[in-house]
Amino acid sequence: MDKISLVVPCFNEQDNIFPFYEAVLNVFQEISAATFELVFVDDGSSDETFSRIAELNNKDERVRCISFSRNFGKEAALFAGIRSVTGDCTVVLDADLQHPPELIKKMYSLWKDGYQVVEGIKESRGKESKIHGIFTRIFYRMISHAVKIDMANSSDYKLLDKAVTTELAKLSERNTFFRALSFWVGFKKTSVYYEVADRVSGRSKWSTKSLMKYAIKNMVCFSYTPLHIISVVGFIFVLIALGIGIDALCSFIRNSSASGFPTIVFLMLIGFGGCLISLGIIGIYIAQIYDEVKKRPQYIIGKRIG
Ligand code: UDP
Ligand code: MG
Repeated sequence: MDKISLVVPCFNEQDNIFPFYEAVLNVFQEISAATFELVFVDDGSSDETFSRIAELNNKDERVRCISFSRNFGKEAALFAGIRSVTGDCTVVLDADLQHPPELIKKMYSLWKDGYQVVEGIKESRGKESKIHGIFTRIFYRMISHAVKIDMANSSDYKLLDKAVTTELAKLSERNTFFRALSFWVGFKKTSVYYEVADRVSGRSKWSTKSLMKYAIKNMVCFSYTPLHIISVVGFIFVLIALGIGIDALCSFIRNSSASGFPTIVFLMLIGFGGCLISLGIIGIYIAQIYDEVKKRPQYIIGKRIG
């Protein structure tokens, strides 16, 4: 009998825990060839999430829980879960039922066919603003370029073979980006498509600001394009400066003085602006390097059940 581990990050999901568990039971009634373990990772919830998971564990010992000492974020929760699984394969999915658990059946059958990474791809991106859509597209294009795979509409909903979770668990970096790392590790891959359901209860934890921070952090994790852009822009500036320099020299030789002041102010402002933006981008990379070299743990486990 195969054992499928389910890793479920939870942050203040008290009203979703029982419906999620019921949905999982329903799915596994239809998968006769596999049992499951359900690993909830309580990411420092301040509501009743932990006690509800404990209640489930009392009646079903397949339910386990890792509880963080505070909120460390979904990435940390995913990796804590992945490091504790014992199944033959692992499915990672959200607690709010936005990742439809029925898809596990299809993922499992693809795994049986020999695929080691089954990516859940969002059929549509759900409700989001136009600007958000544009930023998301730019972001995924850069990341896709870095991992050399099209990541548009990818999500955190995936099935991973034991070989894959073992490799992911070994990673020592602090600033992880699970969605791209599952591509980066390689292995035999396929995709399944799903419609993002509405949240069963509660609100999304993401604000525009936190999404921006998440995007920048992950961009730095995977892409050096911003640094390359600085070099290219610098090179263009040098070319422009050369052109203007030659022009100034010619005017000097012809003894016709260049009409210069506004041009100089304009160029200086652009130059300074460009330098500051470049320093900012380099600063973001340095901050992330600093974060990594400090080697603080990605999360701290406060309590465990099961
Ligand atoms: N989550 C978490 N830690 C956080 C934020 C979110 O573990 O700091 C969990 C959350 O409980 C849910 C999943 O990550 O199971 C996805 O979060 P959310 O629904 O807020 O994101 P969205 O679906 O809007 O992208
Ligand atoms: Mg959600």
